[in-house]
Parts: sequence; structure tokens; C-alpha cells
Amino acid sequence: MRQDKTPIQRLYDRIPKTRCKAGCFRCCINYVQMAKEERERMGGYEWNGRCPHLTSDGKCGVYDARPLVCRIYGSSELLLCPDCECGEPLSEEETRSMLREYLKEADKLI
Ligand code: SF4
Ligand code: SF4
Repeated sequence: MRQDKTPIQRLYDRIPKTRCKAGCFRCCINYVQMAKEERERMGGYEWNGRCPHLTSDGKCGVYDARPLVCRIYGSSELLLCPDCECGEPLSEEETRSMLREYLKEADKLI
């Protein structure tokens, strides 16, 4: 049975794919804010100096359920990462528009 995506999951579909530098997990030691539904989807988030979903070999253990902030960094002209590859990043305008939609849907970030 097909499960409908939430508006936030539909935003994910508009974010270009990136490829991180091998072995880099610099983003995953920062505290990450997200919508309540994203936190639930990834099975909770108890930051302890790094993301609890970072695996011992430095990979994302909830890749398909990672929140928007983990997806958009490196994928936008406003949030470019010098160490990751992205074919065609979102423009500044697209990024601002997406973040406005996200904040509206998220209600508040936790
Ligand atoms: S986005 Fe950049 S800084 Fe973050 S984990 Fe990937 S390569 Fe590292
Ligand atoms: S959810 Fe995945 S990508 Fe995001 S901070 Fe945690 S380990 Fe890193």
C-alpha cells in the first residue's frame, strides 16, 4: 500500500543529491534542529556531542529518514560545503522559499 508523503517529505524530493567527502562527518557532530515529525521518523535524537545516529564507521545510520537540515547542507548556493559534491545546487531564491515552506510546516523546530 502506498503511503502518502508529508509536506516535509515532499520538500526532501526537491533537494539535489550530494556526495560527501569520504570519511567526513563534520556536520554530524553539530547539534541539529528539526521538526517533531522528523525526530519521530528518525527514532529520536539525544545529542551527546555528536548525533546518536552516526555509526562507528562515520556514516549516517538513518540516511533515508535524516532531517531536512542534513539534506540541504551542501545542496544550496547559500549552504555550500567545500568538501562535498553537488551537481546543481538550489539557488538562493529556491532555498529561501523552501525554508519558508519548511518552517511553516514544522511549526517550530526542536
Ligand atoms: S556536508 Fe561537507 S562537511 Fe558535512 S559531512 Fe558532508 S562533506 Fe563533511
Ligand atoms: S541524521 Fe545522519 S546526517 Fe544527520 S546528523 Fe545524524 S548521522 Fe549526520
